[in-house]
Amino acid sequence: MKIAVLPGDGIGPEIVAQAVKVMEALRSEGLQIEMEYAHIGGAGYDAAGDPLPEATLKLAQESDAVLLGAVGGYQYDNLPRPQRPEQGLLRIRKVLNLFANLRPAMVYPELVSASSLKPELVSGLDILILRELTGDIYFGQPRGIRTLENGERQGFDTMHYSESEIRRVAHVGFQSAMKRSKKLCSVDKANVLDTSMFWREIVTEVGKEYPEVELSHMYVDNAAMQLVRAPKQFDVILTGNIFGDILSDEASMLTGSIGMLPSASLDANNKGLYEPCHGSAPDIAGKNIANPLATILSVAMMMRYTFAREDIAQRIENAVRKTLQQGYRTGDIAEAGMAKIGTAEMGDAVVAAL
Ligand code: NAD
Repeated sequence: MKIAVLPGDGIGPEIVAQAVKVMEALRSEGLQIEMEYAHIGGAGYDAAGDPLPEATLKLAQESDAVLLGAVGGYQYDNLPRPQRPEQGLLRIRKVLNLFANLRPAMVYPELVSASSLKPELVSGLDILILRELTGDIYFGQPRGIRTLENGERQGFDTMHYSESEIRRVAHVGFQSAMKRSKKLCSVDKANVLDTSMFWREIVTEVGKEYPEVELSHMYVDNAAMQLVRAPKQFDVILTGNIFGDILSDEASMLTGSIGMLPSASLDANNKGLYEPCHGSAPDIAGKNIANPLATILSVAMMMRYTFAREDIAQRIENAVRKTLQQGYRTGDIAEAGMAKIGTAEMGDAVVAAL
């Protein structure tokens, strides 16, 4: 297992170090894991003047999987767009063709009360948001700021999806649904957008190849509402890049803390980039208080999707569950009166449980 480790910025290095502890523990049992580090984001800019240095991209291309912390920091906010940290992330996803972004949102019984919703709405929640990651308005050309004939300035972006882009992510969606409870909800804005009308047509067509999966369609505004009204009605949600960006962050709050949510971004051969859903949290960086569980759970997803080691994935997930059952909490998931532990201690607790 050749893994590129890209800690990135802010809390990235602290949380990735805990995930590395877990991989080292697995390696000490004989699992053949090879890890190599490289810079990305602001760290890439500091080291090589580029948020995705050539050496980092080469390492990522030569590896089976990439483990990433997070990118971004106040000190980089005023750089020209090509040098900004998030450009490194957008480029690595694009170059590696990581078009399928899987974000499970699961509520652990021990954390039900950390959710902002009533316990009965979220207890037992287990949904998967599948977001298309390399197309849509985030990548469409032309884009920019222009001056119209009447002298007024205008900002513009272009939304488009090609048939092949929709087909390949729809297949991932139906295949994921087949492994779960065989329900797929495709989310779009087909009442207003032509791109969405086309999305719906192609998803429906692909669905004919998966007769066992119950396919439904929902407008994104309604989906945003249903996610906080009755989230357990969903199993797999399939959606485009911009809608998925927003809905997956909304769904993260159902679970209590963004610090608990892992993600996987896969190409057509299950090569993947694995990272927590949250950002670099510069407000708490370097204080040993960030929650490393999303990053550790991202390693579990890596074992499941890239290396097809469901057994190891479940061991890591069970270790996290046990750690929570034992009462260990970082500040973001601790209830009033509960003892809090630091980032490194949480990593140690998971390794001990493993
Ligand atoms: P953020 O996710 O970094 O932080 C939002 C809030 O959640 C903050 O209060 C933070 O302290 C808290 N938080 C996040 N992760 C946590 C963890 N593991 N444990 C405990 N608390 C945690 O989002 P933001 O503040 O909007 O952005 C900060 C920076 O991160 C920006 O530069 C942004 O561009 C970048 N960002 C990067 C990614 C990525 O690398 N994938 C994603 C989103 C934002």
